[in-house]
Amino acid sequence: MPNKTYDAIIVGGGVMGCATAYYLLKTDPKLKVAILEKDPIYERASTPLSDGNTRIQFNIKENIQISQYGLEALARFSDDMEVNGEKPDAAFRQQGDLFILDEASREESYDGYLLQKSLGCDIRWLSQKEVQTYYPLYNLKDCVAGTFGPHDGTMSPMAVLLGYKKKVIELGANFIHAEVTEILERQNQITGVKLTSNEILNSKVVLNAAGAWAPEIARTAGVELPINPTKRQVTVIETNARPEKVLPLLFLPSGLYCIHESEGVFTVGKSFPDDYVGTNDFTWERKTFEADIWPELVEYFPSFDRLKIMRGWAGLYEVNTLDGNAILGEWPELKGFYLANGFSGHGFQQCHGVGRYIAELILGINPTLDLSIFSPQRILDKKPVFESRRKII
Ligand SMILES: Cc1cc2nc3c(=O)[nH]c(=O)nc-3n(C[C@H](O)[C@H](O)[C@H](O)COP(=O)(O)OP(=O)(O)OC[C@H]3O[C@@H](n4cnc5c(N)ncnc54)[C@H](O)[C@@H]3O)c2cc1C
Repeated sequence: MPNKTYDAIIVGGGVMGCATAYYLLKTDPKLKVAILEKDPIYERASTPLSDGNTRIQFNIKENIQISQYGLEALARFSDDMEVNGEKPDAAFRQQGDLFILDEASREESYDGYLLQKSLGCDIRWLSQKEVQTYYPLYNLKDCVAGTFGPHDGTMSPMAVLLGYKKKVIELGANFIHAEVTEILERQNQITGVKLTSNEILNSKVVLNAAGAWAPEIARTAGVELPINPTKRQVTVIETNARPEKVLPLLFLPSGLYCIHESEGVFTVGKSFPDDYVGTNDFTWERKTFEADIWPELVEYFPSFDRLKIMRGWAGLYEVNTLDGNAILGEWPELKGFYLANGFSGHGFQQCHGVGRYIAELILGINPTLDLSIFSPQRILDKKPVFESRRKII
């Protein structure tokens, strides 16, 4: 039987929960840490259903710095996560992210470009002509310029998650297959969690790392989070295009993105304002691609007028409806209740910097990277920090 009192309990064994456990145990190997995960094969967790992209191209300084640290962590990921001589491979492919800018997004993106440069990022401002060279399949519709991050790219999110998970188990974390039904507190101090089995695990520190399920679990402790679990769909297509080399990941101003996988194969996706909100629908709908995405694709990539739909899937974004950014830190009205929530579609890449930050907060260490801009206090104060003035994501 596991010891039922812990120094920290983590609700959710996705990438955020496991990365935080790693930084806790790396800093203090004697800690007793429990990670509770209701879905051990991660059928519905957002991490394995994500596109696995990381980019330096943000407009908020702290988001850029999180990505800079992410690149450092990825460079030594294989060595750091070694367990019994086995080194995980994140399959990080730095094909670069290319953002297409239209007249409306130009100025804001230029500000972001200057900020990224000032922080030492390798980032390029592209003319229309250069965009064409980087992405010959694109007909330049709506394009006034572009930005290209040569170190951005995609990887296997499951490999990163399992790398952290295996490592934390080796470091002594208790990874438990169980569903938390209630966060327990007494006089505004966390006391532990209750499981579906009615078992109670005790701790003065509980981290909510429950991804899209974070608002429902927070509510059991009387904490209301402005987070909507929102269905997002991804489709893999095979086209007749045969680019000479792997193309960058391309983002259109409308939010439509296109990841070149290999030869004629691309992964595409787009968020829509009426995407289903809730945690019960994971069906991928072919008609959404055919009716809402394909026509737009053809407008920008004329050679995609004939293609084969190979497969698709749906997963959940945890959309912070206040400002589209993470909510990080201790809830001001409940001592010991920590949040790593609300990542709104860019959480996978933030696991390294956020995991380190939350671990430092829990351990009372001065944070290596100050992420207090994303503090839960701003939720209570209703003071958003927007990445983009034009749209949340
Ligand atoms: C289609 C799609 C594409 C994406 N693309 C990207 C991308 O390219 N780059 C990027 O950075 N981000 C991307 N994201 C976002 C990213 O996947 C998430 O922000 C990130 O994975 C969140 O990690 P997490 O550990 O917080 O959540 P999750 O991976 O969802 O983990 C939370 C875990 O908590 C468990 N849990 C929930 N409730 C309970 C409970 N009561 N008891 C026990 N366990 C519980 C769940 O089973 C789950 O395993 C994408 C998301 C989707 C859906």
